[in-house]
Amino acid sequence: MIRMPGQSHQGPLPPLTDAQRTLEQELHSHVQTLAGQIGERNLFRHDRLVMAADYIRTTLAGAGYEVRRQPYEVGGKICENIEAEMRGREKPDDIVIIGAHYDSVQGSPGANDNASGVAATLALARAFADTTPARTLRFVLFANEEPPFFQTEHMGSRVYAKRSRERGENIALMLSLETIGYYSDEPGSQHLLFPLSLIYPSTGNFIAFVSNVENGFLVRQLVGSFRQQAQFPSEGGALWGLIPGVGWSDHWAFWEEGFPAVMVTDTALFRYPAYHSSADRPELVQYERMARVVSGLQAVIAGMANAPQ
Ligand SMILES: [Zn+2]
Repeated sequence: MIRMPGQSHQGPLPPLTDAQRTLEQELHSHVQTLAGQIGERNLFRHDRLVMAADYIRTTLAGAGYEVRRQPYEVGGKICENIEAEMRGREKPDDIVIIGAHYDSVQGSPGANDNASGVAATLALARAFADTTPARTLRFVLFANEEPPFFQTEHMGSRVYAKRSRERGENIALMLSLETIGYYSDEPGSQHLLFPLSLIYPSTGNFIAFVSNVENGFLVRQLVGSFRQQAQFPSEGGALWGLIPGVGWSDHWAFWEEGFPAVMVTDTALFRYPAYHSSADRPELVQYERMARVVSGLQAVIAGMANAPQ
């Protein structure tokens, strides 16, 4: 068990800043478009997957980025990863990736899973658009995270991480934003499996930073930084990679290629009643708390992007 630095925030949350209010609106608007207007989006609803990809590219281009596409074929259909890059000033070959999958599981509009992660990635891309980080920042939206592609060769993040390996890229950190919009102050709202249920709070009001044991040093660094800069409950776990849930997103694909990667999540199925169902709609996402999380992540990422080594 690796101890996390600092203390999780307790007590009432402070009023939102003006910047957080703007961010709240921005996150709401992205989730509403992706999950409300476009809805279910995957290879089985290919027209909708294409609409989501168009929306993502347009948003990133609107923030001033030159958008790059990584198309690939699955079963005769083209899908694509989408990438926007802010090149580092001092260490351009050191890369920090912020990523989220934009497909939804079959039968679900995927508001929390994972329009929330996409919305956060798009908002963070906008927030960093006018900055000059020391390291290179990349914002990447992946196709095909959900079953039946999950942990296969067709998973978008797997295709992406393989290419990074082939190119010999130096990825300092990949942060996977996976289902980050649902929180509850009800005691007993967090359902973790034994023995995690003994270690972590049983009230599902926190954001979690999760990795395998090998990346424990990074989780410690990220949680420490988040706790210093955000007034929002947070937990960290560097856990055995085979515990159910620990490898369940795009960070897994980067582990497969030997890159350091950490997931940021509200813990999804261990808390969210509408997980992978038709009820995963925009109304269930809590934009106010999500804005607090994303603004905290912005400060954490700024720290990583300007880290001295
Ligand atoms: Zn999912």
